[in-house]
This record gives sequence, C-alpha cells and structure tokens, in this order.
Amino acid sequence: MALQNLTILGSTGSIGMSTLDVVRRHPDRYRVLALCAHRQIDRLFEQCLEFRPAHAVVGSPELAAALAERLRAAGSKTRVAYGPGALVEMAALPEVDAVMAAIVGAAGLQPALAAVRAGKKVLLANKEALVMAGPVFMAAVRESGAALLPIDSEHNAIFQSLPHDYSENALKSGVSSLLLTASGGPFRCTALGELAEVTPEQACAHPNWVMGQKISVDSATMMNKGLEVIEAHWLFGVPAERIQVVIHPQSVVHSLVQYIDGSVIAELGNPDMRTPIAHALAYPERIAAGVEPLDLFAVAKLSFERPDDARFPCLPLAYRALREGGSAPAILNAANEIAVQAFIDREIAFTAIPRVIEKTLDRLPGAALSTLDDVLAADAAARSVARACIAEMRP
Ligand code: NAD
Ligand code: MG
Repeated sequence: MALQNLTILGSTGSIGMSTLDVVRRHPDRYRVLALCAHRQIDRLFEQCLEFRPAHAVVGSPELAAALAERLRAAGSKTRVAYGPGALVEMAALPEVDAVMAAIVGAAGLQPALAAVRAGKKVLLANKEALVMAGPVFMAAVRESGAALLPIDSEHNAIFQSLPHDYSENALKSGVSSLLLTASGGPFRCTALGELAEVTPEQACAHPNWVMGQKISVDSATMMNKGLEVIEAHWLFGVPAERIQVVIHPQSVVHSLVQYIDGSVIAELGNPDMRTPIAHALAYPERIAAGVEPLDLFAVAKLSFERPDDARFPCLPLAYRALREGGSAPAILNAANEIAVQAFIDREIAFTAIPRVIEKTLDRLPGAALSTLDDVLAADAAARSVARACIAEMRP
C-alpha cells in the first residue's frame, strides 16, 4: 500500500487534532506534508516537531516569522508561509493525495474548493463551505472527479449506510428519506424563559462531543443541524422534504437511511470523531481509530424526540434557506457566523442569534448562485446586513 501524503487545513482545531491522532497510529500509511493553522502557533510548533511536514501555514506574517524562528532553532526543516493564498496552495500541492478540510467557517471555502479542483481526495469537515457554495462546490467535484468524503459524523454515517454506487442522487438507490440525528445540545431541557440569559460558556458545554467554539454554539441553537440538512442535500442529492431531523440525546446512532421497502440502515458508535476521520482516511479499507468499542449494555437505552421549532428556531430558518435556494444558504451561513461571534463576544443574547439571521434573510433579496464570485458577494452582503441588525439591537 502506497504512503498517502496529507494536507491538514485547521490542524490545531478539534478535528485537526483528532485527525493527527489517527495519523499518529498509522505511520506506515500516512505522511503529513502540510499543516495549516491560524493563530495557535504554540500548538502548531509542537505538531511540526512531531509530524515533520514540509510546509506549515499560519494567519499572518508576524506569526510566520515567529514560528519559522522557533522551528529553525529546534533544527526543523519545515518551511513556513502565511495567508489565504498559502492555504490554497497547500490544498492543491501536486504531491498531496488527500486534504482534510477542517478550517471553521467561510474561511475554509477557498482552500477546500482548491483541493476539489485539483482532484484530491477531500475529507470535508468544514460544512460551511458546502452550505454556502453547494452548487459551485458540487459542480467542481463532478468536473475534477475529486473524491468527496464526509467527516461530519451524521453524513459519514449516511455515507456508510448508502449503497457504494449511490452516485449523486440517493433517491435512485431506493432511498425514501435521510434521518439526521441531533443530540439537542446543552439546552434541550432548559426552560424556554431562561434561554435569553444563557452564557457562551454554558452554550459551549456540549453533553456528548468536545468541539470548537463556533460549532458548539451552533449545536446549542441547532443551527448546526440546520447546516447539516443543507450539507446532506448537496452530498446526497435529497430534497429538503426528505431530510428529517431526529433528536437523539445519547449520540450513539449517528444517522439513518430509510429505504422504500421499509428497511432502515444506520451507523452506530461511541461519539468520537476519530471514527468518521479514520473511515474517510482509509476508505474503502478500515483502520483502527483508537475509539472504545460501543458497549450497548452501558448505553442501555436509545431515545428519540421530535425537535421543537419554538426552542430551536434556527432549524426552520435553515429549511427555509434550502427551499429558497440560490444565495439564501450563503446568506444564512454568513449571518449565523456574525451572530454567533456577537454572542460569544457578549454583544447579543443567545435568543437574538435566530433573530439576526431571520432579519438578514428577510432584508437581502435572493440571487442566483453559479460562481465563486456569486458566493463571495452573497457572503459579504449578508455579513454587513447582519452587523447592521446587531447594531440596531443595541439599547
Ligand atoms: P476549531 O475551532 O476547534 O478549529 C478550527 C481550525 O480552523 C483551527 O485549526 C484554526 O486555526 C483554523 N482556522 C480558523 N480560522 C481560520 C482562518 N481564517 N484561516 C485559516 N485557518 C483558520 O473547530 P472544529 O471544531 O475543529 O471544527 C472545524 C470544522 O469541522 C467546522 O466547520 C465544524 O463545523 C466541522 N465539524 C467539527 C466537528 C467536531 O467535532 N469538532 C464535527 C463535525 C464537523
Ligand atoms: Mg455533525
């Protein structure tokens, strides 16, 4: 088996570190060629010493100079670059076989798209890229023949539960619907009247998964599931009305596929992102991921609930954006990124997040979306409208 060369975009994040943990277990299979991060250079420095990549990328010239200096002093040969252009370059290096796209948010779109256009095996954690640019992204996949493998646990579960030859339209394989499971986050049982007062720390304390800050807040509002509905639409070619969200607090059933004959196929396991990461890295083979085997006796009970739109208004907003199509999902995603950051910065209440997104969707007319420029224009317009909505909310 030939050694596979990897670029890891977002190596210092939660997914990036889980990826390196799987890679560390299989030095005979994977070699890290490029590690890309943003600001956490202490962690990136340690990663460079351990994995000895040819390239490392950071967010600014100052951080690049500081990292390069420390690496040189430690005898490392890793070359350091910085900025969005360097990310794109690392994603498309000719000698790279597979790219882990694990930057958070819209910042990850262009490098992920570059990996797709270069025909790489693309392991997609960065769901925002697909939400904002669905048609452009999938057209690029078709054109280049890149292999797109979902890392999001729900989509990875669905991918594993579909026939191998499902092509781009799962309905043709006898699928009747996709059931996306959601934990319900930390506020599933909080009194509705208390939601306006919850803090970013409470929102980030997820019951089952340890994740980056932005996706943790998204899980608390359930916008994460909304983004995943849109992601599932693009990955599997299934319309909104055939994608159902099911609250499943144990996070053991990672998602399910319902077929027209009544069969339901699911993937189960402990909630540990190393499972989907290992699956996608080795696909179609299987490798050890360091994940504890599932103990069904310890789990004992699996339960399922219908999501409540009054508690989780972000979820219907995501369905609305998917149905409207065109630029609406890009607007939804950008307004959400701005609103979540404002909540983390304590500028707005938790319950204002969906209001900012709804107002932004209401104010911006939908537009067609067929090029990267269309995506970037919708993203920029939505960010400025969302900021204006937040300014209006200040007393
Ligand atoms: P995180 O915040 O822990 O890490 C984000 C990474 O992106 C860091 O390495 C950071 O350096 C990098 N980054 C941030 N802004 C950047 C920029 N402007 N330019 C370059 N790099 C930048 O986030 P995470 O939890 O690892 O999530 C990463 C992505 O994976 C998100 O899109 C998230 O939705 C998705 N995802 C995460 C999980 C999970 O369990 N953490 C599960 C499913 C999907
Ligand atoms: Mg997920």
